[in-house]
Amino acid sequence: MMDSLFLAGFDPLHETPESCVLCSLRPPVFAFDYRALDKNQRTRETKGFCCALCAVALVRKLQRAEAQEWASEEAALAADNVDVTELHRHRVTVFPGRHRKAEG
Ligand SMILES: [Zn+2]
Repeated sequence: MMDSLFLAGFDPLHETPESCVLCSLRPPVFAFDYRALDKNQRTRETKGFCCALCAVALVRKLQRAEAQEWASEEAALAADNVDVTELHRHRVTVFPGRHRKAEG
């Protein structure tokens, strides 16, 4: 399972969280639900209400997880002697700064 992130607005008349559950510093803007697998392949879920800055941090967290997923896939294919040239080129374009060639 790949990481997933769900962001949504909420009704301030019926849901009244006082502060972001992630930073406790700012009032929340979104309801969120982030799911990922832990080291034991169990789903780990973090949910609640978050501020806009923490929502951006969650998107960046998802981006890092996705970059790692693509790199792992590339490495697995390279280990099976599959030509990963195009996949690598695409990954470098999508995730600049994470262009270490997969080892295989
Ligand atoms: Zn926050």
